[in-house]
Amino acid sequence: MSTEIAGTRPFSLNDDHRDIAALARQFADEQLAPGALEWEQDKDLPLDVLRMGAESGFGGIYVSEEHGGSGLSRLDAALIFEALGTGDPSVAAYISIHNMVAWMIDSFGDDAQKERFLPALTSMDQLGAYCLTESSSGSDAAALKARAELSEDGTHYVLTGDKAFISGAGTAGVYIIMARTGGPGPKGISAFIVEDGAEGLGYGALEKKLGWVAQPTRTVTLDGVKVPVENRLGEEGKGFNIAMAGLNGGRLNIGACSIGGAQFALEKSLAYVTEREAFGAPLANLQHLQFQLADMATDLEAARTLLWRAAATLDAKDPEATKLCAMAKRFATDAASSVADKALQIHGGYGCMTEYGIEKVFRDLRVHQVVEGTNEIMRVVIARDLLKGARA
Ligand SMILES: Cc1cc2nc3c(=O)[nH]c(=O)nc-3n(C[C@H](O)[C@H](O)[C@H](O)COP(=O)(O)OP(=O)(O)OC[C@H]3O[C@@H](n4cnc5c(N)ncnc54)[C@H](O)[C@@H]3O)c2cc1C
Repeated sequence: MSTEIAGTRPFSLNDDHRDIAALARQFADEQLAPGALEWEQDKDLPLDVLRMGAESGFGGIYVSEEHGGSGLSRLDAALIFEALGTGDPSVAAYISIHNMVAWMIDSFGDDAQKERFLPALTSMDQLGAYCLTESSSGSDAAALKARAELSEDGTHYVLTGDKAFISGAGTAGVYIIMARTGGPGPKGISAFIVEDGAEGLGYGALEKKLGWVAQPTRTVTLDGVKVPVENRLGEEGKGFNIAMAGLNGGRLNIGACSIGGAQFALEKSLAYVTEREAFGAPLANLQHLQFQLADMATDLEAARTLLWRAAATLDAKDPEATKLCAMAKRFATDAASSVADKALQIHGGYGCMTEYGIEKVFRDLRVHQVVEGTNEIMRVVIARDLLKGARA
């Protein structure tokens, strides 16, 4: 399949793409799906399985090969995260956050930072965490209050404040923390790499939550954390740009995890309607359900197509990439949640039972409409871009 779109680099699925997707799907079927319900009960990440995934290159998917990554494209990543999402959207989404952290260090770090942090991140011996949100600022991330004060001798910063809802907190070894080194607004924000065990770095209690139960979410507290200047990521004042650059790819990955979760729910539904009988015939004979299945499959194809196009613009560093990533995240996560909802309904009472796996996917995918920028914020990003064009 090949698609040409005016103004963007053409993209196509070739044999390499298909091989990558098949490898990730095999990993999802064999390593993720069988453990998904158990990890949810244990409320923690399966570290051994993550490290096995890293052996297949999932720990640094678009980190350069020079630094231990797989050097793949965003389109490859979209295919991988869709496949991983079929096995467990919660674990797949955490792998996405980890990849975002590794990519930020590969893209904005200096040589010493890359050599120091990337080998352990790409092998997933250490996990990454992304710390932007605070208890008083989420969507309005540029209003963050955590402070980083440079010491008088200029050797280190002292970080104070809190970071809320941090995925992987307490389990991760490497934290990218956005904190204020200057005045108000995005230009006063810098990014720092902080290691687990740093004095003053603390973690709150495990949050109880709707979905993503298999990955820990905690508050990160910064109580005078001493961070050497060598650990500042990029220049002072560039932290917000770095944080936003990471999110473009993160949004694609979350959209892809949603499509994967919904694809699992669709596949389960197709099997269920052929096995289950009502009124003396298989459910599959009912045209209403046939139409539901047709719409579910169509919506997922539409989401996939938009997501791949957005991924191709990010690969091509196209100026439209931020808008398209926001469109793809909004559309894919909404469409996939609707598919999971329909799949639950098709399964009747069994859809509500944990052992069928559908209700877990339904809950996990609901989270995706909130994280990596809510779907309202995606509309803000899209509208801003549209109006900029209209007013130009
Ligand atoms: C399970 C989970 C894991 C997370 N992991 C991480 C993580 O690892 N790292 C991290 O930094 N953050 C993380 N987050 C935080 C997440 O990114 C934020 O919750 C999200 O950005 C929304 O911010 P908020 O919760 O403060 O909501 P608010 O910003 O208070 O928004 C509340 C509501 O108002 C709407 N709204 C706000 N502004 C506008 C506007 N301008 N126009 C229209 N509507 C608007 C929002 O869409 C939302 O519906 C996580 C959250 C969850 C739930």
